[in-house]
Amino acid sequence: MREGQHVLANTYARYPILLVRGKGVKVWDSNGREYLDFVGGLAVCNLGHCHPKVVQALEEQARQLIHCSNFYYIGPQVELARRLCELSFGERVFFCNSGTEATEAAIKLARKYSTERYGPERYQIITMENSFHGRTMGALSATGQKKFHKGFEPLLPGFTYCPFDDLEAVAGAIGPQTCAVMVEPIQAEGGVNLPSPDYLKKLRELCDQTGTLLIYDEVQVGMGRTGKLFSYEHYDTPPHIMTLAKSLANGVPIGALVATDEVAQAFSPGDHASTFGGNPLATAVGCCVVDTLVGDGILENCQEMGGYLLKGLLGLKERYTFIKDVRGKGLIVGCELEFEGKKIVERCMDKGVLINCTADRVLRFLPPLIVTREEIDLLLKALDEVFSKR
Ligand SMILES: *Cc1c(COP(=O)(O)O)cnc(C)c1O
Repeated sequence: MREGQHVLANTYARYPILLVRGKGVKVWDSNGREYLDFVGGLAVCNLGHCHPKVVQALEEQARQLIHCSNFYYIGPQVELARRLCELSFGERVFFCNSGTEATEAAIKLARKYSTERYGPERYQIITMENSFHGRTMGALSATGQKKFHKGFEPLLPGFTYCPFDDLEAVAGAIGPQTCAVMVEPIQAEGGVNLPSPDYLKKLRELCDQTGTLLIYDEVQVGMGRTGKLFSYEHYDTPPHIMTLAKSLANGVPIGALVATDEVAQAFSPGDHASTFGGNPLATAVGCCVVDTLVGDGILENCQEMGGYLLKGLLGLKERYTFIKDVRGKGLIVGCELEFEGKKIVERCMDKGVLINCTADRVLRFLPPLIVTREEIDLLLKALDEVFSKR
């Protein structure tokens, strides 16, 4: 598979293994080697790899209808929209195919709503430093990290960045040109950064006082990852618009924008579209994912196992002084080191455990939400061995 180095765009620094099979929290490479997967397809495979219900939904829908145009109603799309609305603040849904596309849809909807309501000067969107919202030019411009912008300027105009969890900064930045504030309730790529308990509530108040839309990027932390279906539920503060993607169909590409009826009404026929968005295959699997997350006790397991993992890591922190911090919610957990985490990730892989490192120094754990205590013990044991050899 090393030939991939020559035929693939050089956009990932890939590890030299080829994963060919997965089941639950385990994956196997082409040499038959087994790994425990604490990357989970990067927060995508929340029900685990090849969950039987997901496979069944995929097979059944593939036999019925794989694609048809959004010129016509699509049964599973309506079903998934109904579920998302019933389970969230939302009243209308637009479907696309990825997180970055959901961000684009949110930018467009916020601008259209504000233009219609207040006039064309109101187009500015405030996002946060260390945020991540995607890689297309609009979503990249929304992303408050210089390292992703480098070489791609000029960006889309109209974005202002504020420090995360800093209300005064946002209050100072909101002006007559501001149409929306976009924030990840918990910053994921930025290093698993949790907000103060009342941050989102105060942010919403600020938005309401100034007629500013509040947009949550729940692409990574939504769909059960934090132990609630949507992470904003922890903070009792709904937004006007929310984006979803990653685990919404457990690995079948999908993205969604969920909005209140009033805001969503700013879109008229022809304003926005996606050929594949909301296709029968992806949305049939999405329905299965939502039903399984809610119905099979997955959220409860996520809360319990998240607590167990956090406790285990705090135990390691007591023994290894180079661990600066351990933090998380549900099963998005970060372990911040004093040094770069790349080598630790490689050593863990040698021991048969896949983990990830973000923001250079934060080991990040994103296992399927069905992970067991025994599997977490194996991760902690591998980490202990790797840490002890440092
Ligand atoms: C992954 C991610 C995105 C981008 O999603 P893609 O499907 O990779 O385009 C956007 N926002 C957040 C918070 C993400 O984690």
